[in-house]
Amino acid sequence: MINVTKTFLPPQDEYQAILKKAWDTGWMTNRGVLVKALEKQVKSYLKTPNIICMTNGTLPIQIAIKALKLQGEIITTPFSYVATTSSIVWEGCTPVFVDIHPDYLTIDETKIEAAITNKTSAILATQVFGNPCDIEAIEAIAKRHNLKVIYDAAHCFGVNYKNKSVFEFGDVSTCSFHATKLFHTGEGGALFCNPNLYDLMYQHHNFGHDGPEAFHGIGINAKMSEPQAAMGLSVLPYMSDILEERKRVVETYLHLLPGLKTIKIRAHTEWNYSYFPVIFNSEEEVLRVMKRLNEEAIYPRRYFYPSLNTLPYVHDTEMPISEQIAKCVLCLPLYHGLAEADIIKICNLIKASVC
Ligand SMILES: *Cc1c(COP(=O)(O)O)cnc(C)c1O
Repeated sequence: MINVTKTFLPPQDEYQAILKKAWDTGWMTNRGVLVKALEKQVKSYLKTPNIICMTNGTLPIQIAIKALKLQGEIITTPFSYVATTSSIVWEGCTPVFVDIHPDYLTIDETKIEAAITNKTSAILATQVFGNPCDIEAIEAIAKRHNLKVIYDAAHCFGVNYKNKSVFEFGDVSTCSFHATKLFHTGEGGALFCNPNLYDLMYQHHNFGHDGPEAFHGIGINAKMSEPQAAMGLSVLPYMSDILEERKRVVETYLHLLPGLKTIKIRAHTEWNYSYFPVIFNSEEEVLRVMKRLNEEAIYPRRYFYPSLNTLPYVHDTEMPISEQIAKCVLCLPLYHGLAEADIIKICNLIKASVC
């Protein structure tokens, strides 16, 4: 069976040797030595000024909305994983969708200003498949209209834009370390922010604690545990391997499927090969390709379908480009160790079912 992704697992003895440190201290959570070590190592690997590791990649989005006291409307992309939109609604705000760019698949910055009203408090955009939005344009719009900017950068571990980690842009940037993402801690995630927001974000992820007996304000529990951090610490040394392997797989696909449309990566980006989306000509073609691949126990995924403006709990507005892309996109299997012969087989099956 070949799935869209396969979790990278480090040698088990390396994981256990790190986990043993949790046994030695008797600490399983509450920011023990392993979480602190992971934060230090990730900061140095990515060259980011700060990070708060969390228990998944959704809580940092919710915490950012809560801690920045966002209200009213938040402008967002309809082409993302559901967590981007659900976090807005969960925090009592209203998502206002702006359609995407047909090649970059990120929010179309030229359409943002038309969606701003006097209720707009922020822009929450996704750096989808690790492809940066038009960060400069979004920053300029946010400045002009006094809006906060949050980036859902769940797919962006290792992505640099203009020689800087993409996590450094926006007031807050979030990442997911879920087992399906390219760097993972089983479940996990992180929040990166403008340094003057660090204390506020930190407090919110730990119940609002100000020492053991006092509180700054409201908070929630989003702390990463020690076993999660142990996984991260044992995966991190393999990151350059993982990135190289993924690059090999993507380049093989591009070589074997020269006619197919895929995502256009923005200039000045060092990409992380996190996904390989193919945009077919029609939904019917996608379903045909899926059926043929499924018959051979190959399971690509429709990332991201449906377009989020059609969720049952949002006000439905038409987003023609996002809806069209969502119907026609299929992410092909992409992971460390995917064999050359399997890639060739996948490409042959696709070619046979699209012509
Ligand atoms: C994976 C993902 C999330 C959520 O991350 P979890 O760690 O699963 O909570 C949020 N946004 C996007 C775009 C994602 O792909």
